[in-house]
Amino acid sequence: MELPPNQTVKPSMTEKKKPETIRIGQLGYVEIHDYMGSDTKIADIARISTGSTVDDYTKDHRNQMLINKLINFRHETPFEFGVITFKIKAPIFVARHFFRHRIGSFMEMSARRRIATEFEFSEELNCKSVNEAVDTIIRAYTILLNADVPKEKAREILPMATMTEFYWCVNLRCLFNFIMLRDSKHAQEETREFAKAVKSLTTQIFPTSMIAFEDEYLEELK
Ligand SMILES: Cc1cc2nc3c(=O)[nH]c(=O)nc-3n(C[C@H](O)[C@H](O)[C@H](O)COP(=O)(O)OP(=O)(O)OC[C@H]3O[C@@H](n4cnc5c(N)ncnc54)[C@H](O)[C@@H]3O)c2cc1C
Repeated sequence: MELPPNQTVKPSMTEKKKPETIRIGQLGYVEIHDYMGSDTKIADIARISTGSTVDDYTKDHRNQMLINKLINFRHETPFEFGVITFKIKAPIFVARHFFRHRIGSFMEMSARRRIATEFEFSEELNCKSVNEAVDTIIRAYTILLNADVPKEKAREILPMATMTEFYWCVNLRCLFNFIMLRDSKHAQEETREFAKAVKSLTTQIFPTSMIAFEDEYLEELK
């Protein structure tokens, strides 16, 4: 199809600049599937409050000051206008920690419809008796599937270290809350690794907001 003169093609979502996927362990990863907004958009949205405007020359500095102030005063609604969709592959026991964060949307692979083929255990569990137990479970799962037992029943015997994949769409305000709780010394180590990846990718998309958030909240939690 030919475009009319003077009309350019808008970059599609997939053409947006996105940070590199962060790999975790042998099988896990966190990547950004899509995102909406920027530090500038967050600051612009907040400015409706006072009706103030900024010129291009001082914009970056003024945005930074405003974002610091928003975080400082716990005036966090403007951060709800920054939204990220992550694609994550993690063991089920880590995914369960993500799913406890109710303010956001999830879409997960279904082991009723897909055969679970991947498992990742912590290094501490790498010993003869655990390896034997896992082999037995995988063998039994395969036997059940080969005997036409439905996937939704056969999966009952799978361990929590079975890998799952999901999309997670979350706004920046809830993501702050997630990071405070899950990149904390109180969180499980494996989950914390994923939270650190979420934090690092988010910082590449919303650097000013994330630095302001980190300065205000995270120092005390380390
Ligand atoms: C170290 C650690 C240990 C944990 N241990 C356990 C455990 O043993 N058992 C267990 O069940 N859970 C446990 N949790 C889960 C925890 O209780 C929270 O459910 C989870 O971290 C999600 O946090 P959230 O509710 O702040 O996030 P979200 O669900 O994303 O909610 C974001 C914010 O929205 C508001 N909100 C959401 N829903 C409601 C609501 N229904 N009513 C009022 N306000 C709401 C709150 O302000 C909340 O902070 C643990 C979490 C951590 C980090």
